[in-house]
Amino acid sequence: MTAPVRVRFAPSPTGTLHLGSARSALYNWLFARHAGAEGTYVLRIEDTDAARSTPENVEQALRVFRWLGLDWDEGPGVEGPHAPYFQSQRGDRYTAALDQLFASQDVYRCFCTKEELDAERAAAQAEKRPFVYSGRCRDLPVADAVARAEAGEAHVVRLRVPEGEVTVVHDVVVGDSEFENALLGDFVVARADGSPLYNFANVVDDAEMRITHVIRGNDHLSNTPRQVLLYRALGHDVPAFAHLPMVLGPDGAKLSKRRHHTSTVEQLALAGYAPEAVRNGLALVGWSKDGETTTMSTAELVEHFDLTRVKKSSAQMDYGILASINGDHLRAMEPVTWADGYAAWRDEWLPADDPHHEAARVVEPSVAARLVQEKCATWGEVPEYLGFLLEPFTMSEEASKRFAKTGDDGVRVLDHIIPVLEALPSFTLEALEAALRGAADDLELKPGKVFAPIRFAVTGRTIAPGLWESIHELGRDRSLERLRAGRERLVAAAAEAVEA
Ligand code: GLU
Repeated sequence: MTAPVRVRFAPSPTGTLHLGSARSALYNWLFARHAGAEGTYVLRIEDTDAARSTPENVEQALRVFRWLGLDWDEGPGVEGPHAPYFQSQRGDRYTAALDQLFASQDVYRCFCTKEELDAERAAAQAEKRPFVYSGRCRDLPVADAVARAEAGEAHVVRLRVPEGEVTVVHDVVVGDSEFENALLGDFVVARADGSPLYNFANVVDDAEMRITHVIRGNDHLSNTPRQVLLYRALGHDVPAFAHLPMVLGPDGAKLSKRRHHTSTVEQLALAGYAPEAVRNGLALVGWSKDGETTTMSTAELVEHFDLTRVKKSSAQMDYGILASINGDHLRAMEPVTWADGYAAWRDEWLPADDPHHEAARVVEPSVAARLVQEKCATWGEVPEYLGFLLEPFTMSEEASKRFAKTGDDGVRVLDHIIPVLEALPSFTLEALEAALRGAADDLELKPGKVFAPIRFAVTGRTIAPGLWESIHELGRDRSLERLRAGRERLVAAAAEAVEA
């Protein structure tokens, strides 16, 4: 039996879910699901920054979490024992915690002005030592401080950090780190109006929500000693920490919108990735079951996920592996699952003004599955494959060039195949395959030479499903019509070439 674990993902909703954050969310979710009935995954929205945390941004973030399939046991829309799960609605908790710290004298009011702090900072710089708040207001008599605050004097609230000690952060991934309290200084926990700063709200919530493991990016490691001090001051147990390696781009640089073509989950959803493949791909950015296995189902990830195998060093995104994992997942799906996923992508993510909008709807998703499930690495590739079914028929520039190059052989092939298809007793896939392969024997040409002109004439493009599948889907009349028109086109192109 595993011990109960309660983990959380605590995003600040800025609209898009960065792949690094998504990976943190995923590891929390996998860790909770690995613990089965003993595991709880909490989603808490850290929306204290009112300017960026708009309702639209929150909704957009929730939409992406839902898409990614990381269902939460407690959080927005799933009330639990520690509701509300929006920090903007938890002000009374922070006030109560701050009152507690005032009562125990673990915090004090600091009236230092910006000018005074700037001077301290400049002095530190001149002496080439890191700036740490001097603690000037530490020993102001409490009654005086209260009176000044009540008179409306600007101030902040600082934690009285124990002097002369070292704060140790135990971490499941990176091991122990030691931080000298003298270098942390008495840091600010709240503003004059009692509104909490990030470290304070985060600790109050994690303590109240009984979080056992804090799993997050290691860009937060420098906050952690301050948080440990806050847990102690509030009299709470300190949770276990697991700081995850940063997710980097393939070039080793910090993942960013500007540098990397895909930096958010939303972009993957738009490109037609399957949620389970994204879960699989992201799980491997910083963790591995055995150092080799790549394609895994979500059930396998849940079974094997373990914080002790999370890498310490930073983890690079490999978009090639992600795409190939996606292709594996798509091909392995039951056709009906594939079709549902494709329909969901098409209807929920493909923009209405996308040039592929019409091609994406030219056949039912179940037909698309039959035609291209084997061929496409993402659902985003599907419409391009289906474009040959659109009317009126058009030929792409590239196909047109390559079609013209088939020359006299091309005309011979079409002259041969048109009557063969006209006479075919039943227009089945098997009969078509046999007829097309038979044509290569009859004409004593390599299959490639025979299939190319037929493919260009029938599909008008370089990207299409298999040849007999394409012809079968178009049906006899439309296929013959295109073959005949193609033959004319080829003859005309040859005549033009002679004239030129
Ligand atoms: N709101 C913080 C963030 O988005 C949460 C950090 C944490 O997980 O403690 O970075």
